[in-house]
Amino acid sequence: LGPTITVGEILVEIMATTIGAGFLEPQSLTGPYPSGAPAIFIDQVARMGGAAGIIASVGNDDFGRLNVDRLRQDGVDISAIAISADWPTGSAFVRYRPDGARDFVFNIARSAAGQIGLTPAAKDLIGRAGHVHVMGTALSIPGAREVILHAIETVRARGGSVSFDPNLRKELLTDDGALESFNHVLGATDLLLPSDEELFTAAGLTDEAAAVASLLESGIGEIVLKRGEQGASFFGLDRPRIDCAAFAVAEVDPTGAGDCFGAAYLTCRRKGMAPDAALLHANAAGARNVTWLGPMEGVSTLAELTAFIAQAPRR
Ligand code: ADP
Repeated sequence: LGPTITVGEILVEIMATTIGAGFLEPQSLTGPYPSGAPAIFIDQVARMGGAAGIIASVGNDDFGRLNVDRLRQDGVDISAIAISADWPTGSAFVRYRPDGARDFVFNIARSAAGQIGLTPAAKDLIGRAGHVHVMGTALSIPGAREVILHAIETVRARGGSVSFDPNLRKELLTDDGALESFNHVLGATDLLLPSDEELFTAAGLTDEAAAVASLLESGIGEIVLKRGEQGASFFGLDRPRIDCAAFAVAEVDPTGAGDCFGAAYLTCRRKGMAPDAALLHANAAGARNVTWLGPMEGVSTLAELTAFIAQAPRR
């Protein structure tokens, strides 16, 4: 029915190399790496051979070129990426705590990403799209929010579908508009891809079974719950639950796993695969991604996923 599209931040990511170190003193960092949750997601769709496009804005600088070149090379439609003459490409600095949690210093709203809007190229891409994937981080950008709501309405009116990865980041939940649009998007979602905390937030309930039941009853067709190294689970209305164990891999960098997971699941479903096969491929995409340093370095082709599934041990 037309390409999968997403809207939102394209960033460079710069990471602390030492676990536990903060940003209050000098330390060694690595990067820049192409990043931004929507960018990672759409790059993974394209690498699997899915038609894919992104509405975004980068600066007229090396950080922007690094990203746009990668997306173009991997087959993403970049026609709706605006190059801002006045604003630099956004960035994210990441540090890792000893318990595996991450802290981010984001520079999104006051970067080129803050300038995302409904340009003629964006309208054109929306007019051709068959599916809209909403990344929760993008809802913190007022301009992106408007484009997302317009894209959802337009694509649904044409019989297209919507997926939503809440991807909540405490650093980005700073204005009421983000929460309001969160609920609006949820009401239009066909496929929800939350972590457990995000499932509870979406449902307003803290029991997993009750939260899933309530969201399915509200009209969400499929929920795929991401559980990190515990794997993932599928839930659908009047369909049996499917659990899928994670693959046993040595994690190098967890950032980007959820984005690749969601992209692989959606792309498999859009290619006509059943939920169990799509879940297996999504688990493989998440697992492969965490074995690379850099959020977008571990994206996979379908052939790479197939080969990985055939030989990788499960947890
Ligand atoms: P997010 O990045 O959104 O927090 P998760 O950390 O749950 O999402 O990762 C998404 C998926 O990637 C998991 O459901 C799992 O399939 C895979 N994954 C993540 N971390 C690992 C890991 N350490 N080992 C194997 N698979 C992993």
